[in-house]
Parts: sequence; structure tokens; C-alpha cells
Amino acid sequence: MAAITGQQFLDRLRKSPPTLYIDGARVEDPTTHPATRNMCQSLAGLYDLQHQPELREKLTYEEGGERHPMSLMVPRTKEDLARIGEAHRIRANYSLGFLGRAPDYMNANVMAAGMGAGYFARCEVEGDHQPDFAGNMRRYYEYVRDHDLCLTHALTNPQVNRAKMASEMPDPYIALGIVEEREDGVVMRGARMMATLPIADEILVFPSTVLKENADKSRYAMGFAIPTNTPGLSFQCREPFDVGRDPEDHPLGSRFDEQDAFVIFDDVLVPWERVFLLYDVELANKAYAATDAVLHMAYQVVNLKVAKTEAFLGTAQSIVNAIGSGQFQHVQSKVAEIIVTLEIMKALEVAAVAGATVNEYGVMTPARGPLDAARNYYPAMYARLPELLQLLGASGIIMMPSKADREGTLGPQISKYLQAGNASAEDRLKLFRLAWDMSMSSFGGRQSLYEKFFFGDPVRMHSALYEVYDKGPAVERIGQFLKRTEKPEGVAADD
Ligand SMILES: Cc1cc2nc3c(=O)[nH]c(=O)nc-3n(C[C@H](O)[C@H](O)[C@H](O)COP(=O)(O)OP(=O)(O)OC[C@H]3O[C@@H](n4cnc5c(N)ncnc54)[C@H](O)[C@@H]3O)c2cc1C
Repeated sequence: MAAITGQQFLDRLRKSPPTLYIDGARVEDPTTHPATRNMCQSLAGLYDLQHQPELREKLTYEEGGERHPMSLMVPRTKEDLARIGEAHRIRANYSLGFLGRAPDYMNANVMAAGMGAGYFARCEVEGDHQPDFAGNMRRYYEYVRDHDLCLTHALTNPQVNRAKMASEMPDPYIALGIVEEREDGVVMRGARMMATLPIADEILVFPSTVLKENADKSRYAMGFAIPTNTPGLSFQCREPFDVGRDPEDHPLGSRFDEQDAFVIFDDVLVPWERVFLLYDVELANKAYAATDAVLHMAYQVVNLKVAKTEAFLGTAQSIVNAIGSGQFQHVQSKVAEIIVTLEIMKALEVAAVAGATVNEYGVMTPARGPLDAARNYYPAMYARLPELLQLLGASGIIMMPSKADREGTLGPQISKYLQAGNASAEDRLKLFRLAWDMSMSSFGGRQSLYEKFFFGDPVRMHSALYEVYDKGPAVERIGQFLKRTEKPEGVAADD
């Protein structure tokens, strides 16, 4: 099998549904459950995109006589990277960039980890059973590619007490931990805090980058992947944002509620061939950086955020056009703010490709500097984007009779009084509903939180940037400048 269709994705979900719980009850079939069925259709639409004749070349590549998703291609040249970036942007546009965890994100992770599989060979375990961690990682990438799987992932431990290490919690298995090694695999118990897009085929539990333990070996260090319907594994979903409204009323929430779930491992058996790393804290903490997975994921993200910022620009300018506010200088200035953010993100994407280099595993890897800048810059800037829509739309973003209202008793009055300067009431209300879902609805509110944290805690990301960035040349230049005693030519000493 190669790049799948939407129908194949839905059939697979029906056959092996993830163990989801919503409002206290098991979701027997996510493709028909009211809170998840529209998201399933949206994912199916995303899979179908790669089969559209005009997009096939852009969204898939050929290998071994089959076509596979572009996000799983191993980039060997800068041109390959640019092709992957274009595919990321095309797919991001499908949801206006509001689907944070489309399969592309984890594909980038698995591709880089699969190519960097040699890293996992450094992990050694005691005892008779000597797993082939590197082979497992490499084969898992091929498996994901050949079946075009949809993955979710979970990295962080439950919040319980951030002043304590996982081993100091009231119960040693609050944080996900290794219980025992068996002939047929490793038993895992505990929980992980967040897995976005639990409507997936498999979950990747990759080494957490924030594991702090006193010992070199810890039961909390691990990397593995298993199907989302593995016995003992459960996903407790948050309150759904798709509440069954017409897409005209909730244009984003009714289509792209990717869900976030708390993940519980109740003595889950992970077969040996699906284990990539065990016990080694340092290897676990460095895995994302050492395999460059973090850069390939950040490259997907920067492309996604370009699409998302374009959506904010388009919506903001459409509001300005609708209410005729474009002549006011502060309105122009607010739209200009979005343009600046967009152009900065586009430039960082271009710079990431321009500065790309081949890593030790032969993979063309986007440059770290621009991507670190993007992932530190955008979370802070994003807070301003919904605010700008609110400032530009004002009461228009709240006074939005629904589709049912428009078709009801007061329909003629709504058509008259809520028309736009350049459009009918129907088109105006659709536009403002979109602005509301982007910036104010429960869907929009979750987006704001998502942008702050999805790539990690912004505070610690800043610290990490401070630690890794080579500040030496800049310090050296200042040192040299301070040593200079000469004055510019032509200026007398006593001037
Ligand atoms: C909508 C959403 C979707 C997400 N999706 C996923 C997903 O799919 N998969 C996944 O693995 N994760 C996901 N995450 C989790 C994300 O990785 C974390 O939110 C992020 O790493 C921060 O961790 P935390 O939420 O546990 O915050 P905490 O670590 O609990 O931090 C809470 C507060 O305490 C501060 N704090 C805590 N510890 C320290 C410290 N050591 N130093 C300084 N300050 C500290 C933080 O700055 C913050 O202000 C998602 C998060 C959100 C909000």
C-alpha cells in the first residue's frame, strides 16, 4: 500500500478505532460519533488531496514503484526540502493552518528519526534480550511510509507537581514508566498529559525532552510506538468544540476540531520490535536534537504558520473591505502588523532552506537558526493576531445571527441591516463567523493556548535558545570595537 485515499483512512479507523473516551463514554466509531465524525471527514479530505490529479506531483513522491506522502520523503537536496515545504503549505491551506497536527507533523518526526536510527543503537540494555533499537526505528519509518499512517504523539508527564521529578510523585506510575521486560515486549504503566489528534492509527511515545532524573538510567526514559487501540491504552478527550453547528456558523470548529487527549497506559504491552529506546536518560533527552527530528518538525511548523498568518491577513482585509474602514490610518497599521508577521515567517522559511546542510545521516536538514527564531517568535506574535481581528471587527464579531436566524422570521430584516458595504448579509455573516472562530470561540481560544505551548514551554524554549546560540562572534566584535581608539578620518582630535 502507498499514499492512501480518504476512504481507506476512514475504513481503517472503523476497523481499528482508537480507544477514545468523550463525556464518560467510549467512542465506538469515531467516523460516526457526533464529536469526531466531521474531523474524520476533514482528515479524509486531506488524504484525498494527494490523489487530486493537479496536486499528485506536489503532494506525493515516488519510491520503489509506489507514491508516498511528500512529508515522508527523505530530503537529499535543497530542492527536495523546498518541495516538501511547498507540500506542507498546500496541505496547511486546506484548514487555513488551523489543523496543527495534521499527519505531516509526525511524518517529519518519523522520517528524521528513521534516518537517524543509528543514534538509537547507542542505547544498551542489561540482560539476555538485546533489542535492535536502530533497526526498529528504521523499520518503523518504513512501515509508516508504506501504510501512510496517521500518528499522534505524547511527550509530557501529567502536571501533578512540577517541583518534583517523576520518581518523586505520590505514585511511581503517575508518569509513564516501564514496569517490566517480558519475552514478548515491555509493559508500560502511567499517563502522558497531551496527545493532539488522538483520532489516529498509532501513537508515538517518543523520549521526552524535559526528563529530569538524578540517575543515568530511569524507568521514565523510553521511546516506542503502538496502535491507538492497543489493549490497556485509553485516550480521555477534552470537551469537544464541534458541537454540531452548521459549518456556516462554526466554520472552523465544525470541521477541524483535532481533539486533545490525556493518555492512560494501563499495563500496556509494547512488543520489542516497537521499542526504540529504554532507560537511558541522556539519550532520551537528546534524541530530538541528535536525529534533527526537531528541525524537520519545525520546518513543517514554519510552513504551516505561513498559511495560518495568510489566513489572518485575508480575513482582516476582508473585514476592512466589508465595513469600509480601510481609509483610517490605524486600520492600515493593524493590517500592516499582520503583513510584517507574515513576511518574517516567509523569510525564515526561505532562510531555513537556504542555510540547509546535509547531516551525519545524509539528510538535507533545514538550518537551525531561522527555525529556532520562528518557533520562539511566533508564539509571542500569535497572541496579537486574534486581537487584531477583534480590534478590526469590533461589534461585528459578536453580532452574528446564525444561519437559522437568517432563514427564520427576522431573515428579511437581518438581510437589510446586517449587509456589508460590499456584500450581502449572508456573505458578511459568514466572514465574521470565521473571524470569531479564529479569535474568540472555544475553538479560537484553544488555538491561542496551542500556539503558546505546542512546541514546548516558551520560557524554557528561550532558555534553550540562549544556551545553544553561538553568541561568541557578536561578543568578540564588541570587544574589538571597545579596543578601538582611532576617530573617524577627517575629524580633528580636539573637535
Ligand atoms: C493545545 C495543546 C496541544 C498540545 N498537544 C501536544 C501533543 O500533541 N503532544 C505532546 O506531547 N504535547 C502536547 N502539548 C503539550 C506541550 O508540549 C506542553 O504544553 C508544553 O511542553 C509545556 O508543558 P506543560 O503544559 O506540561 O506545562 P508545565 O511544564 O506544567 O508549565 C506550567 C507553568 O509552569 C512553568 N514551569 C514549569 N516548569 C518549569 C521550569 N522547569 N522552568 C521554568 N518554568 C517552568 C511554565 O513556564 C508554565 O508557566 C500540547 C499543549 C497544548 C496547550
